[in-house]
Amino acid sequence: MGYGHPAVAALACAIAPRPAAWAGSFDAERLSMTGRDIVQRREAIGLSREDLATRLHEHPDQLHAWEGIQGTIPRSLARRLDWTLALAEREAAIQAAGIPTCPVVAGLTSRPQPERSPESLKALYAQLEAHAATCPICRRRQAVWEAQPPLPPPPLPPLVAALSQIQAQAERLPAYLRPAIWGGLGFGALTLFRAAILLGVSQGAGLSQAGLAVVVAIGLGAYGGTAWGVTSHFARPAFSRYGRVGDYLTGLAVAAGTGLAFAAPAAALDLDPFFRTALGWGLLAIGVVLIGLVLGHRVFRSPVAPPGA
Ligand SMILES: [Zn+2]
Repeated sequence: MGYGHPAVAALACAIAPRPAAWAGSFDAERLSMTGRDIVQRREAIGLSREDLATRLHEHPDQLHAWEGIQGTIPRSLARRLDWTLALAEREAAIQAAGIPTCPVVAGLTSRPQPERSPESLKALYAQLEAHAATCPICRRRQAVWEAQPPLPPPPLPPLVAALSQIQAQAERLPAYLRPAIWGGLGFGALTLFRAAILLGVSQGAGLSQAGLAVVVAIGLGAYGGTAWGVTSHFARPAFSRYGRVGDYLTGLAVAAGTGLAFAAPAAALDLDPFFRTALGWGLLAIGVVLIGLVLGHRVFRSPVAPPGA
């Protein structure tokens, strides 16, 4: 086992998704494969039908049937095959370069994983990453791995795939604008969910009303997300020199910025009597402080923040 092992590759993708690197290979031509193409790619790297079947968690007879398909293989199956073959091709390139398997990685990844909680996977990934940074074998493996053409997108369930596509788009935006997308999506999805329940409960509720609510929610979410992104964009570097205290200051600034983005127009346009009273503003300030401290503690904690965010 090594970096070429599908489990490790899939793990790396699950924890640190980098869809931007795959986006270029969402390639219709590449996915229009026939049975003959599977055989050719499999044999080019000296993989037996049994080996490939094992990697696919399929019976060799099933793979044999797929390899006999004359026309174009259905897209979802082609994705699975393309992904598994691409990983095997990388592994073959590493072997061809004569680089041995790293005993440390083999030890770490062969350990049984009784609970596959995101935390334990994340911890394993961190261990692997820390080890690979200093291990000469791992570095050579990684160099060959990275010299390969970009991996195709992993075969994910449709909803996850849609989200990772959106994330790929979001990654092209400047960092401080990305939360706008997530804010819009989050609010929109939440409202869509509520609209669906509402429609289910009251047959009379208009579809157009529900649709409008979703659009408004997406707009509000994008607006709040933008306020969040812009304040953290400026607050993060300004407070980073204060270390852990700076994390809390960033959290407070982001909470205040996002809160004011909603409260200030509401007060200016007199949308809510809440903002006409000192009590209203006092409650808002208390809320901002509490939320800001939680954000500083959980979200803006320095070691967890990805570089360049
Ligand atoms: Zn190593």
